[in-house]
Amino acid sequence: MPNLDLPEQLRLLYEFQQIDMEILALHHKLKSVPLKIKKLEKGFQIHQQKLQAKQEELGDAEKEQRSKTAQLDMHQEQRLKFQAQLREVKTNREYQALDKEISFLDAKDAEIEDEILAVMLQIDQLTEELDRQQEELEAEQTKKNQQEALYRQETENLQAQIVAWQEKRRGLFHRIDQGLMVQYLEGFKRKRTGIISLVTSNICNNCHLTIPPQTLKEARKYEQFIRCGSCKHILYIPPPVPDDVSSADATSD
Ligand SMILES: [Zn+2]
Repeated sequence: MPNLDLPEQLRLLYEFQQIDMEILALHHKLKSVPLKIKKLEKGFQIHQQKLQAKQEELGDAEKEQRSKTAQLDMHQEQRLKFQAQLREVKTNREYQALDKEISFLDAKDAEIEDEILAVMLQIDQLTEELDRQQEELEAEQTKKNQQEALYRQETENLQAQIVAWQEKRRGLFHRIDQGLMVQYLEGFKRKRTGIISLVTSNICNNCHLTIPPQTLKEARKYEQFIRCGSCKHILYIPPPVPDDVSSADATSD
C-alpha cells in the first residue's frame, strides 16, 4: 500500500463503517414505527368493535321491546272488538266464547308485560354498559392520539438523525482511498456488515476471537492490511497516542 497513511485510512474506514452501522440501525428503527402504529390501531379497533357489538345488542333489545308493545296494542284492538261484540251477543254460549277469548288475551298480555319488564331492565343495563364503554373508548382515543403524536415525533427524530449521519458520511467518503472504499462498499452491499474490525484487548470485536500475537504484531506495523484469521475482517488497532508530541517533533526536525 504505497503512499497510504495506513493508520489514518483504517481509522477513517472504521469511522465510516460505524456511521453506516448507525444509519442501518436507524433505518431499522424507522421501519418499525409504522408497525407500531398499526398495532396501536388494531388495539383501538378492538375497543370500537366491542362498543359496536354492545350497540347492536341494545338495538336488538329495543326492537324486542317495540315488537312486544306492538303486540299489546294489537291485543287491545282485538279486546275492544270482542267487548263490542259482547254487548250484542244473543246466547250464553256466544257470551262464554267471547269471554274466553278476552281472558286468553288478558293472560297473554300479562305474560308479555313481564317480558317487556325484563327487556326494559336489560336495556337499562346495556345503556349503562354502553355509557361506560363510550367513556373508555374516548379515553382510548386520547391515548391513541398521544401515542401517535409520539410516533410521529420519533419518525422525525430518526429521519433527522439519519440526515446528520449521512452528512458526516459524505464528509468522510473522499478521504478514504478509493480502492479500499470499493472493497468496503461491495462488502457492505453484499452482507450488510463491515469489512473492518476494531481490536480491543487483543480481541477482534467482530467475531470476538482472540488474535494471535504474531498477527497483532503484523497489524501494528501498519504496512499492509492484516485480516482476522477467523472472520477475515481487516484488523484496526488504533495506534497508541504519543504522550510526548514535542519530542517527536524535535526528532523529525
Ligand atoms: Zn474476527
